Amino acid sequence: MARDYDVIIIGSGAAGLSAAVAAADAGARVLVVESEKRVGGSSRLSGGHFYAAGTSVQGEAGFTGDTADAMFEHYMTLNQFLVDPAVVRRYCDLSAPTFEWLKGLGVNFPKEGVYRSGVGSIPRGHQPEGDGEEVINVLEGHRSTKGVDLVLDARVTGLVSNEEGRVTGIRIGEDEASCGAVVMATGGFGANPDMIETYYPQAAATGDWRWYIGAEGARGDGIELGKSVGGVVDGQDRGLLLATPGFSRDLEVMLPSWLIMVNSAGRRFCDETVNYTVMAGLLEKQGGRAHAVFDEAARAAAKPNPLFQAYWVADVLQQKAEEGRIHRAETLAELADLAGVDADGLQGTVDRYNVDAEAGEDSAFFKYGSLAPITEPPFYAVEVRPAILCWTGTGLRIDADTCVLDKAEKPIRGLYAAGETVGNLHGDRYIGGGGSFGPCIVFGKVAGETAAKYARELND
Ligand SMILES: Cc1cc2nc3c(=O)[nH]c(=O)nc-3n(C[C@H](O)[C@H](O)[C@H](O)COP(=O)(O)OP(=O)(O)OC[C@H]3O[C@@H](n4cnc5c(N)ncnc54)[C@H](O)[C@@H]3O)c2cc1C
Repeated sequence: MARDYDVIIIGSGAAGLSAAVAAADAGARVLVVESEKRVGGSSRLSGGHFYAAGTSVQGEAGFTGDTADAMFEHYMTLNQFLVDPAVVRRYCDLSAPTFEWLKGLGVNFPKEGVYRSGVGSIPRGHQPEGDGEEVINVLEGHRSTKGVDLVLDARVTGLVSNEEGRVTGIRIGEDEASCGAVVMATGGFGANPDMIETYYPQAAATGDWRWYIGAEGARGDGIELGKSVGGVVDGQDRGLLLATPGFSRDLEVMLPSWLIMVNSAGRRFCDETVNYTVMAGLLEKQGGRAHAVFDEAARAAAKPNPLFQAYWVADVLQQKAEEGRIHRAETLAELADLAGVDADGLQGTVDRYNVDAEAGEDSAFFKYGSLAPITEPPFYAVEVRPAILCWTGTGLRIDADTCVLDKAEKPIRGLYAAGETVGNLHGDRYIGGGGSFGPCIVFGKVAGETAAKYARELND
């Protein structure tokens, strides 16, 4: 049967372009359809970090002996085994080979960019030169030279199936294009408030504090398109949120070490500088919010830092206190009252913390860095919520070969998915920086190869 293309890929982010390059390399005639006016989606805006185990660049940086087995064990343990082992295993197994593939395409990963991302002890984060933008430029260059067609400004509105339920093409308004297989690579749904209500209650609960750092095309179309042909949605309430006092819409990754965070009982519940990958989960356990507490000496000394530049600086804190956005009081009891936290709890927490600060050691949560005593009035308290939305983790359920599954766990023939539109890879805890972008490349490549093979073997 004559088809317009062997493989049509919906979306041109890291997952879609990886799929395009891999499918073209496998000999397929490929079309990429992108709803926006330029390629790249959220991937272009991102750091482009790649979480991988056993890479050549880890070796160059002096970290030898890391393995897919160790990565798998860490991934599963961190998530209490509440993730799909087959899909996670595939990611771990292919992380290093796919990383080398991307490097071979021309993305430079300097050894200085290898770092401990997340809460694991092994450095598996890999930062590329030029961030996500450069990764997209490299992949886009290969797409173009390999003769893969691209249509921009064309939002796919439907999938076409035959009477056997096999996906045979796409629809854009009234227009249709036929193919042997479709790869769904439409990204997440961070730009779609309705879907956030439905699929990401933790993010929805942050209300009008929430803002999304990704691209406009992240409307969750892949979920709706996949569901329209029987695809199942998996991974409810998952994604990445960052803690913020919500003063402005600047990306802040961490909190400063010179404050403490307390829950409504007035108690600390974490090392305030704990890795951003687990902070939202800790806040969630306190009811989705907490208060950062500090004193006048800490406020006056607060200096910009690349990780929390915009909010936690002396004059901004002063201004926000003047505006009433930060509670300010001459006593801790009064501050507790204003913030709605337990006064005895707060006093006891501060007393203990001040002893630790004096000794230079956080005996409760082992916070590393300067411990500033909270002794000099006025005292300050500001609410913090996990409200900066980075990416979403709910999406289509796939098998380890990226086939989209129906509710009977059967692959929907001709339909593959990769990237943020997939729902059964991420758990409640983010594995670490590079843990979203990395699998986009890994499963994008798998999807391109698998879809190309499927299309080639069709004998209708
Ligand atoms: C600022 C920022 C920094 C980040 N940094 C990192 C990092 O360093 N490491 C990490 O692991 N993760 C990071 N992330 C997350 C990570 O970058 C994303 O999860 C990942 O890039 C998503 O890739 P994707 O290919 O699935 O989706 P995208 O890159 O979003 O691409 C999807 C594309 O599909 C298009 N599309 C959607 N619907 C349709 C439709 N109906 N028809 C046609 N096209 C459609 C979209 O317009 C978009 O271009 C970051 C995210 C952001 C926003």
